[in-house]
Amino acid sequence: MDSSLVVYNSLNGKKETFLPLLKNHVGMYVCGPTVYSNVHLGNCRTFISFDLIYRYLKHLGYKVRYVRNITDAGHLENDADEGEDRIAKKARLESIEPMEVVQRYTVDFRSIMAKFNALPPSIEPTATGHIVEQIELIKEIIIQGYAYEVNGSVYFDVIKFNKDIPYGKLSGRNIDELIHNTRSLDGQSDKKNPQDFALWKKAEPVHIMRWPSPWSDGFPGWHLECTAMSTKYLGSQFDIHGGGMDLKFPHHECEIAQAESITKKAPVSYWLHANMLTLNGKKMAKSTGNNILPEEIFTGENTLFKQSFSPMVVRFFILQAHYRSIVDLSETALIASEKGFYRLVDGLVKLDTLPVSDHTTGFDFTNWLNKCYAAMNDDFNSPLLIAHLFDAVKYINSVHHGTLTISSEDTQNLQKYIHDFFFDVLGLEKPFKEIPSKGNKQLNGTLDLLMILRNKARENKDFGTSDLIRDTLNELDIQVNDTPEGSTFKKN
Ligand code: AMP
Ligand code: ZN
Repeated sequence: MDSSLVVYNSLNGKKETFLPLLKNHVGMYVCGPTVYSNVHLGNCRTFISFDLIYRYLKHLGYKVRYVRNITDAGHLENDADEGEDRIAKKARLESIEPMEVVQRYTVDFRSIMAKFNALPPSIEPTATGHIVEQIELIKEIIIQGYAYEVNGSVYFDVIKFNKDIPYGKLSGRNIDELIHNTRSLDGQSDKKNPQDFALWKKAEPVHIMRWPSPWSDGFPGWHLECTAMSTKYLGSQFDIHGGGMDLKFPHHECEIAQAESITKKAPVSYWLHANMLTLNGKKMAKSTGNNILPEEIFTGENTLFKQSFSPMVVRFFILQAHYRSIVDLSETALIASEKGFYRLVDGLVKLDTLPVSDHTTGFDFTNWLNKCYAAMNDDFNSPLLIAHLFDAVKYINSVHHGTLTISSEDTQNLQKYIHDFFFDVLGLEKPFKEIPSKGNKQLNGTLDLLMILRNKARENKDFGTSDLIRDTLNELDIQVNDTPEGSTFKKN
């Protein structure tokens, strides 16, 4: 277990040594998607970032309980407490059940995440599955004196809470500024003050997503579900809470207030926020139409790009930026990532067939390995890790061309750690499947390379080249099969 891991804590804007509450164990909660539409690539960026973090913590040997919820109720159109429920609205527009909407987009979300080779979380709870827990939380907050009921709805009293425990710690907003900036309610709301937020909303007669409660038939406020589910599965205090930067306020700020109103203790040790994916310099978002779906990128069926890109190339593109930097999506950037990805895979393939020298090595393996871990230990710096992997590939290429040498011990060390970083930590996969086959290493390496070139040709819709490779191999009695994950080969 490496205690030199340092993480950037959004709560205080500082990098801090990561020390879990319970030795060797990590509790991590990440806000999941609101399943009322297909996830766009911006959403995926956040989830891939936390997949990297999850993978690295596991790689370091921590036993991680990773909870990522599915928001299937309570998230209104407006992130404040107004408008229709996003899921109910979609159900109304399509004349289907809200749970059909939920099912459709939950399945879509899981299948996209699987294509990106993101590990499933340990627990994936839903808001509708935790209504009882949310009602119990509201009762507790009322007992503590920080919530009030008006006409069947219950609101969190931000002003009263702030008198006892400071509100705004995460987002850095102070209460006076909030009062000044929140528009007045013109008598349209039951709230005492505009900055109060809903814990429970009484449902209008047309609202079909409703549950009985001591206050009314209604539904929980959006912020409440994450407090209910995180504390249920990770305890009243846990290690990491994550989400996209845009959730800091009001969502995460309200989560903190809800938890602290009951326990009087900070619920989370480290708040981690992933930065935004932009398109044409603007935040990718469903509401503005400035977005692209992952599937549209994989199939090439979109108006933005001339060519398609595989899930692994897109994942690689995302990991080539630090999770706290803004990344702008463009075809040029994806093409550069594709080139880099194939260069890395090519290095991996060559590493298996490298000529070894028993005595001499010019490769400083220990120094290289330390640099790789230092990168990841510095707040999960995946772009720096990738740069170190490229350094190793450069060396591998030189050995391959006979200009440098490497000992068999260093080759084995490199094989182990490049594999660990490529597959386990970065969560990348080779763009072809390996089928165990007899034969010598050189031939297998060459065939691997041909599969890469063939997959690439197919992605670029260069079917002339891809057919040529397949037909030539077939003539040599080597079967090529095309699968949705790429091409595989089998020697007869
Ligand atoms: P939602 O389904 O709207 O609740 O969002 C799911 C997750 O995606 C949240 O963690 C958001 O912060 C994140 N997200 C939304 N838009 C973007 C974006 N353009 N870039 C990165 N993450 C995003
Ligand atoms: Zn949340």
